[in-house]
Amino acid sequence: MIITETFDELLSECNSNKLSIWQQAQAEEAFIQDISEKYLRDIVLRNINAMREAITNGLKSKEKSLSGLSGGDCYRLKTSYKKHPAILGEIFEKITMYALASAEENARMGKIVACPTAGSCGIVPAVLITMAEEYKISDEELINALLTAGKIGQIVSNKVRLAGAVAGCQAECGVASGMAAGLLTFLRHGNNKQIVNSAILAIKNILGLTCDPVCGLVEVPCVKRNPFLAIHAVTASELAFADIESKIPPDEVIDVLEKTGKLMSPVLKETSQGGLAKTKTGIELEKDLAEKL
Ligand code: SF4
Repeated sequence: MIITETFDELLSECNSNKLSIWQQAQAEEAFIQDISEKYLRDIVLRNINAMREAITNGLKSKEKSLSGLSGGDCYRLKTSYKKHPAILGEIFEKITMYALASAEENARMGKIVACPTAGSCGIVPAVLITMAEEYKISDEELINALLTAGKIGQIVSNKVRLAGAVAGCQAECGVASGMAAGLLTFLRHGNNKQIVNSAILAIKNILGLTCDPVCGLVEVPCVKRNPFLAIHAVTASELAFADIESKIPPDEVIDVLEKTGKLMSPVLKETSQGGLAKTKTGIELEKDLAEKL
């Protein structure tokens, strides 16, 4: 069994064997975990259902998180859309609401699916579940889509750890956006090259995004970053679908992601020693929270 480690290897293996990315990903993952492909698909479906649950719970809740730094924005957005529908239509509304719903659930310590991380947990589910509802996509096809997204995340993670503390938010919300772009292109029947290209366009256009959470909590700016980067994924998919390609090849972009992470000051890598965390308001919020505890 060949385990593909780069986007070049993945595309060439899929092309030689006439496979979709999800088929290659499924065979590799079942082999690595030493489980049947059927059992693997059951696990993936459980994750999809957990994504649905997080969105449903998040859409219903007005509650703040324990710190009070986040919560209630999804409800606010839902209420606003009833009076002022989004100019980009229902799919835009759902993607933004669903991304906020999961991210707020995470901040409230609810159950979410880290994809690839908890801080970026709203991006992939928002795109996946919106597509499922709007286009009546079967669970089997959603499993294929999530396997596609998972393979994209796994290839990036071969080069760089997907953690804000290692490479900034480009490696969390940025990679989540790439995964979401890839699955969206797959669900629209894009080919393997378009799928990889959409992921890379999303990641390339978010390089350098810092991780500077206020009070050291995964809330500000993390929660609102999720709807932004879910929509970013849609843009990447639209471009890739038109065969607009990244001039810099996929694996070279991932090299840059890794190098940019290394060049980033530790102050901007989840230490909360700079950026938004050390603004006047960020410092005041930190003091208020310390007094509350
Ligand atoms: S800002 Fe940092 S903690 Fe927040 S989602 Fe991005 S990487 Fe995670």
